[in-house]
Amino acid sequence: MSNDTDRFLGKLAFSLWDKKQGGHRTREYQRLQKQQYYSPAEIENLQTEKLTQLLSHAWQSSSWYRNIMEKNGILPGSLVTLADLRKFPITTKSDIRENTEQFISSAYQKSALKKAKTGGSTGVSLDLYFDQLCQQKRNAAQMYADSLAGWQVGSRVAAVWGNPPVARTLQQKIRSGLLEKTIYLDTMHLDKESMTTFVERWREFQPDVIFGHAHSIYIFASFLLAEKITDLRPKGIVATSMMLLDHERQVIEEAFNTAVTNRYGCEETGLIAVECEQHQGMHINSSHIILESVDDNGLPVTDGTPGKLVVTDLNNYGMPLIRYRIEDVGVLSSRPCSCGRQLPILERLEGRVADFLKKKNGGQVAGVSLVERTLTDIPGLQQMQLVQESLDTLIVNRVRGAEYNENTDAALKDELQSVFGNDVFIDIRDVEKIPQEKSGKYRFSICKI
Ligand SMILES: [Zn+2]
Repeated sequence: MSNDTDRFLGKLAFSLWDKKQGGHRTREYQRLQKQQYYSPAEIENLQTEKLTQLLSHAWQSSSWYRNIMEKNGILPGSLVTLADLRKFPITTKSDIRENTEQFISSAYQKSALKKAKTGGSTGVSLDLYFDQLCQQKRNAAQMYADSLAGWQVGSRVAAVWGNPPVARTLQQKIRSGLLEKTIYLDTMHLDKESMTTFVERWREFQPDVIFGHAHSIYIFASFLLAEKITDLRPKGIVATSMMLLDHERQVIEEAFNTAVTNRYGCEETGLIAVECEQHQGMHINSSHIILESVDDNGLPVTDGTPGKLVVTDLNNYGMPLIRYRIEDVGVLSSRPCSCGRQLPILERLEGRVADFLKKKNGGQVAGVSLVERTLTDIPGLQQMQLVQESLDTLIVNRVRGAEYNENTDAALKDELQSVFGNDVFIDIRDVEKIPQEKSGKYRFSICKI
């Protein structure tokens, strides 16, 4: 079958499948297509309306938020502007972990909610619940984000993923056959042999879009460049893990001759922001979430300054999350985008709070930004990861690049000591690759103190 036939059959199968479940995905997708061009005033109206409804629901059915509203004198219906949202204290991961049942809405049977568990890589694993409509709206947001990278329903997909899903039931097989035309490269086994096989499958299958964690796509792209393979030409590339390093982006774009569409989301709230065709920062998914950037006291930071990201999920009625701190650090901007969309912009991510390294004098360093700068400044480094287990030693796992020579490690040591102090021991370890987490994701900076 041709890619066009695939897309036609895919669209047909999708619309029948979605219709059977109420058609919410299709309708929400159409709304998102329209709302992406809203003016700031229209966005604010939409958010205020959705937030008012959510607060009234939370008051009635989430004992956690009912308590908070009573304690802080917030009455349902008293919200006048979005700024009033700041009357709510920040919801932390430990609040949720220790009081999960109180967050869940009593308006739903818990067994009817979809359950998800967040990864424990930040040290705290959470149980989360979503209602069906929320799930479907998130699907629609995903489709919207994918469409910005050239994907359509029925597109052929190459996925670079850890633990590829396996269709077990007949229904799953029909669904994956019609809706998800996908070939997988399993990131748990990324080696020359698996990548060579994947290239052969790619040539037969001709995927339209490639999806994956940024660093895994980067490893595959480096392999293509090294092997001088230049015929893999997807229409779009979607990088889904949070940290897309600049130098990795360049390698990926060179290998596939296509721009990377970076996006950011989390299990707790779904899509948070996504790049448009201009690739200058990510537009916030303002139809579904309210994103704030705050300091240690929960007060908003000024535009352009890094702050802790706080999300209010306007979709989830099964387990409301209001002003939830994700433990990621990012920079918001009010800069307009040349694409014409006026959705606000998440300029960049600086990493997870847990990725910030500590200095002896009490200062902090955005580890991922440091990795990025060092890779650019010092020739001979292909990849690196910083791990801090004590204030006296910084472990550097580094992969040698083509320009590696006897001066590389000395320059690396100097650069890191200029940041952390000369009395910090820089323990450079020669590795073949950066180790991945159990989830298949990569972290370039890990603070264990
Ligand atoms: Zn834009």
